[in-house]
This record gives sequence, C-alpha cells and structure tokens, in this order.
Amino acid sequence: MSDCIFCKIAGGEIPSATIYEDNDFRVILDLGPASKGHALILPKEHYANLYEIPDELAGKAIVLAKKIITAMTEVLGCDGYNIVQNNGEAAGQTVFHFHIHLIPRNNEDHVGV
Ligand code: 5GP
Ligand code: ZN
Repeated sequence: MSDCIFCKIAGGEIPSATIYEDNDFRVILDLGPASKGHALILPKEHYANLYEIPDELAGKAIVLAKKIITAMTEVLGCDGYNIVQNNGEAAGQTVFHFHIHLIPRNNEDHVGV
C-alpha cells in the first residue's frame, strides 16, 4: 500500500532502527517505546490485521517473536515480555499494517492485565 508508513519502513524506503530482517519480516524499535527495547515485528507484505495475514505467515511471526525475545532477554536482562497485537481502532490499533509488539518488562514494572 503506497500510503502505509509500515510498508515503507518494512521495505526499507524509510530508514528505521532495525534489529532483525529476513525475506518476510523486519523487526524495528518502536518510536514511542512502552519500555526500553520495545520492538515491532512487521511483515514486508501489507496486511491490515490478524484477520488478513495468512495463517502460515502469522505462524512464522510468532516463532520469530519467540526467537527475538529470547535473544533480547539475554541482551537486556529483562524479567518478562508482553507480546501485544492490536486489531481495530477500538483495540488501540493506530497503524493498520499488521504488527506484533514485543515489550520487555522487569519485576518492578508490576504489569497487570
Ligand atoms: P498500534 O497502536 O497500531 O498497535 O501500534 C503502533 C505502534 O507503532 C506504536 O507503538 C507507535 O509508537 C509505533 N510507530 C508509529 N509510527 C512509527 C514510526 O514511524 N516508526 C516506528 N519505529 N514506530 C512507529
Ligand atoms: Zn502496509
């Protein structure tokens, strides 16, 4: 999609703080981080949300999330991780290109659902 900011970031048209990239995904640091190391997994193809992304690619994204948080936990020494994925404005989605938030947490954050 030509006017989608995450298409431009995922495709490399707009520079970003990239921490991982492969044929399917780019993983970047969030511009407005909820915590230090807050990252976003972006597919390179445009899908608005979880309903649009093909199941196989959604599966790959979750496997990648696990890989990234394992590596980042070693680097950051964090105690836990929130994996967040918003669908729809009512749920807080602001960028309508599927993405997964990876949010490192520490014991003192006292995060509750
Ligand atoms: P959503 O609310 O749609 O689940 O999450 C969108 C996220 O994208 C927000 O956490 C926001 O800070 C982040 N974001 C929005 N625009 C940009 C951008 O241009 N670059 C980066 N790195 N993050 C962005
Ligand atoms: Zn897009």
